[in-house]
Amino acid sequence: MPAAPRGERLQALALVQIVEFGALRRRHGPDVADALVLEAAERIAAALPDATVAAIGRNLIELGLVAADIAELEDRLAPLRTPFDSGTIGRSCRLTLTLGVAAAPLSSADAVELVEAAERALAAARRGKPEVMPAPEIILHATDESVLRDELRQAIVRDELFVQYQPKLHLRRRAITSVEALIRWTHPRRGLVLPSDFIPAAERSGEIGPMTLWTLRRVIADQRVLARNGHELPIFINIAGVLLSDSDFVDAAAALIEASGASIGFEITETSVIREPEAAIRNLQRLADLGVAITIDDYGAGLSSLAYLKQLPASELKIDKLFVTQLSSSHRDPLIVRSTIDLAHALEMEVVAEGVETSTSLALLSVMGCDLVQGFLISRPVALETLLVYLREERYNSLFNEARSPLDRLAAVRAQA
Ligand code: C2E
Ligand code: MG
Ligand code: MG
Repeated sequence: MPAAPRGERLQALALVQIVEFGALRRRHGPDVADALVLEAAERIAAALPDATVAAIGRNLIELGLVAADIAELEDRLAPLRTPFDSGTIGRSCRLTLTLGVAAAPLSSADAVELVEAAERALAAARRGKPEVMPAPEIILHATDESVLRDELRQAIVRDELFVQYQPKLHLRRRAITSVEALIRWTHPRRGLVLPSDFIPAAERSGEIGPMTLWTLRRVIADQRVLARNGHELPIFINIAGVLLSDSDFVDAAAALIEASGASIGFEITETSVIREPEAAIRNLQRLADLGVAITIDDYGAGLSSLAYLKQLPASELKIDKLFVTQLSSSHRDPLIVRSTIDLAHALEMEVVAEGVETSTSLALLSVMGCDLVQGFLISRPVALETLLVYLREERYNSLFNEARSPLDRLAAVRAQA
């Protein structure tokens, strides 16, 4: 579906039901129940004169309308959220409506998709508490770029983005030596949205630059909090491929890093360099000269190219979690991981394994000479306050100290050998 032009109006479709209709029908009979649906439809039509309103089922009203944007749509639907006295039955009966709403830009709106999305929204609304009027749930077309772009821009302004931190544990030093910043979005209606659901759209729409600079500022401020608490730790942020050859972004990021003196690392993927290798490598070198540590993320997931790897001023190679999570169950992956570790060491890089979830993986990685580990076993991505507690209490020590620690068992085996 092509991206809709900016500022395009929205086609909205709402499916409306009367709450507790079954009980009303039993108490007052089918004729009165039918009259209630018609009454509700008339009421909706009166509240929204330019909308098309039709009673399409025993307890189902369909409502179509066009709105300038989501905010206007919500404003216009707001009156339907207030319960009202039924004229059919009288003041003794208050009717409450529940709504499932879907919207899409006018040019890309597809009737079937809208109906399906509105049905899903209605089902979700009905699952809410019966005594609470469910808020209309807006389901936007997932591939709609213009809506997402507007929402993303607002997300930055409205402070809906936040960062979680995941520590990287250095196995030989037995210490957390850096952390990775991972962005999240508290969407006003969809709730928590993870980066895989919005970073690709942010990349295509151009919002990724401002968003990454927002992250960088946040990280610089949080790093000061860590330092005040005695933890001098480099923080790595993920950098989308498109930004590596974007000189405006690189200028702005370099200026922020230089002015703050922050200790920042960039996690990039090998494929991001392949797009525009010359510009990307030039920019990476410039950042590396400023002291920015470069990590090659998701190694093994894309088109691995040793030729490019050698040209990059990277100091760290991160093995994709796909290989790590299957380490103990697959026959092939241990070989890939082991040869990757050897290759990285030959290129004078340290190796991080991401996705370390089990002590078996941890033990294997340790034997293979992996330098750093990151994953749910060490810590999930957490808020800054939780990270501070984790670091203060040195919770990672349990991985080394437990009597039956996999690392100690291995050390014992090695010592005997
Ligand atoms: P990534 O940089 O490879 O980050 C690792 C992902 O694995 C994170 O997912 C993390 O929460 C998850 N993870 C960590 N430990 C484990 C584990 O033990 N098991 C499993 N199964 N998963 C684990 P998340 O936070 O959803 O991020 C996904 C991707 O989104 C990241 O992959 C990164 O490419 C991208 N991303 C995150 N934040 C940003 C950002 O600020 N900017 C950009 N451009 N991309 C970002
Ligand atoms: Mg990463
Ligand atoms: Mg990764």
